[in-house]
Amino acid sequence: MSSARILVLGTGGTIAGAGSGATGAAYRPGGLALDSLVAHLSALGLDAELAAREIARIGSQDIGWAEWEALHAACTAALDDPGIAGVIITHGTDTAEETAFLLDLTLPSTKPIVLVGAMRPADAVGADGMRNFANAVKVASDPAASGRGVMLVMGDAILAARDARKAATSSIDAFRSFPRGPLARVTPASIDWYGPPHRVGPENGGAARYAFPQELPRVAILTAGAGMDEKPVEALLGIGARGIVLAGMGQGNAPRVVIEALARAAASGVPVVRATRVDEGLVDRNVEVDDDALGLVAARALGPAKARVLLMVLIANGVTDAGAVQAAFDGG
Ligand code: ASP
Repeated sequence: MSSARILVLGTGGTIAGAGSGATGAAYRPGGLALDSLVAHLSALGLDAELAAREIARIGSQDIGWAEWEALHAACTAALDDPGIAGVIITHGTDTAEETAFLLDLTLPSTKPIVLVGAMRPADAVGADGMRNFANAVKVASDPAASGRGVMLVMGDAILAARDARKAATSSIDAFRSFPRGPLARVTPASIDWYGPPHRVGPENGGAARYAFPQELPRVAILTAGAGMDEKPVEALLGIGARGIVLAGMGQGNAPRVVIEALARAAASGVPVVRATRVDEGLVDRNVEVDDDALGLVAARALGPAKARVLLMVLIANGVTDAGAVQAAFDGG
């Protein structure tokens, strides 16, 4: 049997980072060309044929619409190409969950699309990048990986885009999966899927769920803090925010004057989603905040960064009514 052909799209990040050698701390994300990473990987003798294409060589803190648009177009072409079995995107870990979730919302789930990163630069002692990359090849070439949406491979685990979250700044075990646990355990030699594909047909999500935005509407994240007033909400409306995500306390709470200002924003047609600044846990409707009366939306399991991605996609697709926005946040 011939090897699977995998398209590798490079964006930079620590997996392509180098700088201070084996024991230094400072480095430049995206310092290494994708070709050199792929050559290194190919030398490991993996059973896959890799075609590399560099989209960017940046830290993922600088990723934005232009890179997302290029990734979306390249993935769309790869999904239509019968010669390509799957796609790997090398990516910085800071915003990997945002890119993964945006692509998950806007691409069909007919072939595996896998983001992979690293917590240690390629030239550091104990670098994790090649291990994660080899694992990603294993996932992208596995026929059983399709129908599972966009995935993130880090630390020998496969996480669904909707669930993946960076939870540590430097540990190589930096990602968590919430509310569902990992989809599978992966090593360069094996994959153990813990359940069947959850996006297998158009009727349950195999098709793209939303059109890719032609531009990104300005959606701001406002972090709540004790004693704050309503002025930051007014400032966001003043700069033309089209949507606001509250990174609230506890179950998406904020001082009363802030909630009142957010309710006024919602009444003026700016959708407002209450997420939490807490690491983990659901934000449900109508717990301490009367969402029904105030026209607000509860983020449920999505943290602020991914709530912002979903709200941008919804607004770009003309979905701004609080009930319809809530339905999208409730959905899976
Ligand atoms: N700042 C880096 C990035 O996101 C961190 C990493 O890749 O781990 O590109």
